[in-house]
Amino acid sequence: MKSIKRVAIAAVLVVGTLAGVLLWQGQKAQDERRQPQQTRPLPAPQPSTPTLSRPTPRTPSYPSVIAILCYHDLAEKGSRYSVTPQRFEAHLKILRANGFTFLTVSELVSLLDGEWDGAVPRRVVAITLDDGFRSAYTVAFPLLRKYQAKATLFVYTNWIATTNKALTWEQLREMAQSGLVEIASHTVTHAYPARLRRALRPDAYRQRWLWELQTSKQTLEQRLGVVIRGLAYPGGQVDETLKRLAQQVGYQWAVAINPKPVTPRCDRYALPRFSMDKTISLGQVLAWLQRPPRASRHAHHLARLVPSSSLTHLHRRPFARRFPHHPRPSVN
Ligand SMILES: [Zn+2]
Repeated sequence: MKSIKRVAIAAVLVVGTLAGVLLWQGQKAQDERRQPQQTRPLPAPQPSTPTLSRPTPRTPSYPSVIAILCYHDLAEKGSRYSVTPQRFEAHLKILRANGFTFLTVSELVSLLDGEWDGAVPRRVVAITLDDGFRSAYTVAFPLLRKYQAKATLFVYTNWIATTNKALTWEQLREMAQSGLVEIASHTVTHAYPARLRRALRPDAYRQRWLWELQTSKQTLEQRLGVVIRGLAYPGGQVDETLKRLAQQVGYQWAVAINPKPVTPRCDRYALPRFSMDKTISLGQVLAWLQRPPRASRHAHHLARLVPSSSLTHLHRRPFARRFPHHPRPSVN
């Protein structure tokens, strides 16, 4: 009996132990299933994905100032539109000293159109001389060489070589081949658009300008052996007929007279020019050149880029200190 009891107790102990072991194993497996994530080591923190900075709006790269200056005769005496040789040289000097790059108008237009190769100059000025006065050769050309400044000449073809005030074909050829001077058209007869508009019927007006623009271009190209790309309207007067004809005849750009800086938005067939005459002081020229164009994206671009403090500073300095070798201009 005793042995039966002992066997029974042993069996109970064995079953109990087995049950305990099984329960423990089950609980362990359950725990492992329940908490696998907590026991595994946490993944190493990944470097955060770089967030793209907001794309900066693509601002075309333009000079901070672009301006075209319009001169006529360079002489001590003459009409209101004459500028003295000394003053013309002072203008070149001061523009050079203020970091202006002198371009021809065709180069300036290629810059506006984004077709400029190489570094974009910070400040651009185009010197233009209208009509074909001989002083363009005797006064301007040596100074352009001295300062390595480029310029554009607008000549009206039926005046060339007719008086000793006008340029000769030989002088024009020499300048055209110098690499410093661009020759462009100023029509054949220098008739004023406003006058012709009053005198002629629309069709005759159109025919007359077609002849003026075509003939002057052809004559200059044949006589000088260069491509004539630009045109200056006589008196700076422009209208829609003239602009359309200029384009139709094959000019790539045309200039008017309008005291504004040039911006990329300017009409290529009515580019503005500041008209220079003997009543205009150097201070006014500098004031013009540092005035940003209003109400345009270009203006905002300018405002960010150009403090133009150097110009202001220079503008305020007494003339004698700026140009110790030049007499004070008599007219301000
Ligand atoms: Zn003219």
